[in-house]
Amino acid sequence: MREYLKFYIDGQWVNPLERKTSDVINPATEQVSGRISMGSAADADLAVKAARRAFGSWSRSSRKERLELMQAIQAEYDKRQAEIGAAITEEMGAPAALGGGFHVQLGAGHLATAIEILKDFRFEELRGNTLLAKDPIGVCALITPWNWPMNQIAVKVFPALATGCTMILKPPQLAPYSAQIFAEVLHAAGVPKGVFNMIQGAGSVVGTALSGHPEVDMVSFTGSEFAGVEIAKNSATTVKRVCQELGGKSAFIVLDDAAMVANVAGATSGMMVNSGQTCSAGSRLLVPKARMAEAIEAAQKAAAEVTVGDPQGNFVMGPVVSKGQYNEIQRYIQIGIDEGATLVAGGIGRPESLGKGWYVKPTVFANVDNRMRIAREEVFGPVLVIIGYDSIDHAIEIANDSDFGLAGYVNGADPEACNAVARRMRTGWISINGGFDFHAPFGGIKKSGNGREWGEFGFHEYLETKSLLGFVPAPPAA
Ligand code: NAD
Repeated sequence: MREYLKFYIDGQWVNPLERKTSDVINPATEQVSGRISMGSAADADLAVKAARRAFGSWSRSSRKERLELMQAIQAEYDKRQAEIGAAITEEMGAPAALGGGFHVQLGAGHLATAIEILKDFRFEELRGNTLLAKDPIGVCALITPWNWPMNQIAVKVFPALATGCTMILKPPQLAPYSAQIFAEVLHAAGVPKGVFNMIQGAGSVVGTALSGHPEVDMVSFTGSEFAGVEIAKNSATTVKRVCQELGGKSAFIVLDDAAMVANVAGATSGMMVNSGQTCSAGSRLLVPKARMAEAIEAAQKAAAEVTVGDPQGNFVMGPVVSKGQYNEIQRYIQIGIDEGATLVAGGIGRPESLGKGWYVKPTVFANVDNRMRIAREEVFGPVLVIIGYDSIDHAIEIANDSDFGLAGYVNGADPEACNAVARRMRTGWISINGGFDFHAPFGGIKKSGNGREWGEFGFHEYLETKSLLGFVPAPPAA
């Protein structure tokens, strides 16, 4: 049993002001795996005040000081990688190889990238007699979801630190363990007091207190559209910047060529990673209509290879995060059946071999119409829909006919054809034939949000541009 009852405020582990706890459930066993304290608005206020006090000195810290701190964090993070991976497996059910692998590596990758960028990031630029200074925006509230818990924390905390901001992290209630270890990492690395603070608790309490707090200058939020809108409204009265990273229903276009069958198989298994609980998942697979039968066969085969079971065992997919999420996914599978889509893999209920745990069958619907709810709404589980297209123009039209615009994928044998399709897709982030880059900005358009995280663009979320007119630069040193 894990007991994480203290918050990290002003450089110390402190008791919450009001004693209230919440159980954390292991989604593989449905048993309580630990407890956390649930913060209050008063706890949030203490953390904001600590961050405000620390802002004066941290905002003026030198590049060297920030780099030294981040390198110290890197050393501590490396030591705790196995523990972080185990925590992720326990809290949200990622198979051990994934939790201790890609989940943890994403955190390390964002840290290494932030360090690399900070080494020569231009915080100032002289244009004629005007100096453009990029100043840290101030005290930031960082509100994160449970699905890729370390990735989402890393992608906010490291650029915030690197740009001289101070912060309060509010991790997800469903996946609080990895965040707690992350806070221990920062403490051990010697983060100056008040620069980084962390409070666990409910979004409706701690998150609301932070987004409405007059001393918070910026909120960086990743999560659902509903909460994103609530946060934006709540932040509006104090005129703060809100960076929203929300949901998606991303199209994966497979071109009509010799690689089609292999690409459908890859897209199907790729979609099931992390039990399909990925905002950028390619959950709408677009294939040439004339080759639907081949696509179905390839997707069925790939789905059958996605073994499901105990995340401590050697399975490809673990459970989904919670009972609530399980029920929601089941509801969507039923909607797909009722809408008349062809169920070609998976379906309602747990895999037959599993009596308990929030396990979902890798599910594929074919002959889906883009107007169906299973094609328009984010399921956030291992449910893939296959939609047929008549021509490339038609594929692009379907891909862009979505309320969301987070990610996109194009796979095909001809790189130029792929590039041409990718250029016409209306989303923030598009991967061509599996392209991946820690430096590429990540974020969406439309209902997928307005922020850009990852790499250098992630730094700009935490900076304000200040103009100094009539600026006379110091003469170069003799
Ligand atoms: P969620 O919106 O329920 O919760 C996210 C965080 O917001 C949690 O910490 C929660 O406590 C907090 N929160 C909830 N209501 C709040 C409120 N009113 N005020 C302040 N904070 C509040 O989302 P979730 O279920 O944890 O995550 C799943 C969603 O996140 C999916 O829609 C997914 O697509 C999205 N997501 C987006 C990205 C991206 O980068 N675009 C990445 C991962 C997940």
